[in-house]
Amino acid sequence: MPQSSSAAPPFAFEHSLAQELPGFYAPAQAANFPKPRFLVLNTALAQDLGLDAARLNGAQGAAIFSGNAPPVNARPIALAYAGHQFGNFVPLLGDGRAMLLGELISPLGRRDLALKGSGRTSFSRGGDGRAVIGPVLREYLVSEALHALGIPTTRGLAAVTTGESLWRPGAYPGEQPGAVLTRVAQSHIRVGTFELYAARGDTAQVKRLADYTIARHYPAARAQPNPYSALLTAVAEAQAKLVAGWMAVGFVHGVMNTDNTSIAGETLDFGPCAFMDAYHPKTVFSSIDAQGRYAYGNQPVMARWNLARLAEILLPLMASNEAEARALAHAELAAFPDRYAVHWQAAARAKLGLQRADSGDAELIGWLLAAMQTEAADFTLTFRELAMALRGDTTPVRARFNYAADFDAWLTRWQARLAQEHGTDQAQLAIAARMDTVNPLYVPRNHRVEAALEAAKTGNLSPFHALLAAVTQPFTARTEWAAFAEPAPPSAGAFTTFCGT
Ligand code: AMP
Ligand code: MG
Repeated sequence: MPQSSSAAPPFAFEHSLAQELPGFYAPAQAANFPKPRFLVLNTALAQDLGLDAARLNGAQGAAIFSGNAPPVNARPIALAYAGHQFGNFVPLLGDGRAMLLGELISPLGRRDLALKGSGRTSFSRGGDGRAVIGPVLREYLVSEALHALGIPTTRGLAAVTTGESLWRPGAYPGEQPGAVLTRVAQSHIRVGTFELYAARGDTAQVKRLADYTIARHYPAARAQPNPYSALLTAVAEAQAKLVAGWMAVGFVHGVMNTDNTSIAGETLDFGPCAFMDAYHPKTVFSSIDAQGRYAYGNQPVMARWNLARLAEILLPLMASNEAEARALAHAELAAFPDRYAVHWQAAARAKLGLQRADSGDAELIGWLLAAMQTEAADFTLTFRELAMALRGDTTPVRARFNYAADFDAWLTRWQARLAQEHGTDQAQLAIAARMDTVNPLYVPRNHRVEAALEAAKTGNLSPFHALLAAVTQPFTARTEWAAFAEPAPPSAGAFTTFCGT
């Protein structure tokens, strides 16, 4: 048995999922790791969660966050789920290397606290149940960056090394230190969780899960005339908002399988994710996504595909008459592109400093993106440079566009559109300032992330912490972070990510 130290600080855990959803999990026990050591503790998040960061930041905390010494009232379980992976249905996946410690009742609300990489479970199949330092720090870094960008995401509370050394394939095959990530999520219920019993035709279990999900995440749906139809609508809305958020910062999730699609609408499971440098809708980083199924520009379509899998499952709950249920589901899915467009256009307008919707907006943003694609313009910097243009310096942004006359014509149209809303020169400065609060200067660029992770593998965490500092304050220019704003030199070549093993 893992040791439960009575001296460990108390965690205000509840276990509603374990109590209310038998059949959706299996008991789990962490491996006994030789030597847990902190890589990073998220003290700000710990405080937000009402945890005593000072007491956690030592050997005792490392023992907790490796799984060696779960807090006294933890109840470690591995969650069961199914899922469509790259379109193919897998009837049983589940947490093969993760375990939920409990639901923390915190000032932020109810939050799952889960360990990833903590050892084998009933769902490990051939896997070792472990994670290694590279992917663990990558998920930590990217989730904190997304959070700082205002995008719903699971978060990293802690990362520890385990004292083990594990062989992994990938860009740099070889031995890597084993590591465990402590993840905080609104919940770990996925579209794949619904698919688990739906595939077996067990509508009673699906209903239990749907009722639990409504109570936990979308309580307003309960009061609707058709709560299950309202649940589908709520998930659609959360996914539309989430994916629009990704698109607005050039984020490519990389593996939008239904088992990685959070019902609460958080970014979940950062395997081969990456931020794009040069704008192109077909941008793909994952080594296993040869067809570009989860390419940048395909993400809204894939979100709808995942939603369709959920809709099929909810049919028997939505109406006893099948035709009626299908009509409801069909209407929701048909509305998804517009639902997404509302969020995307709001985000795109904000990126251009516009506050009011106008019938010409889609064309205005569309022309810019098409030109950026032709020029392989850097997605992040172009929008920062547009704000500079409003401040009077058009040189950097104009330099990105070879067809300067066409681009100048667009600049004139854009500024005319801004003038419609505002008018004065002084307003231009205010608009530029506002644009800088939505267009980041620092995103976790792939070459920087790789360099930070490579250094961390050899025990040097300085590059990781420097990059983390910049990407968690992504809107504020600082001289010492100037290099983090730069794209990779052309000599770096195409970048490939490998699944989170
Ligand atoms: P992921 O790619 O992290 O979303 O994982 C997909 C599935 O593979 C999940 O069921 C994981 O639990 C499982 N899995 C991934 N890596 C391992 C591992 N090292 N050991 C056991 N299961 C794993
Ligand atoms: Mg996953």
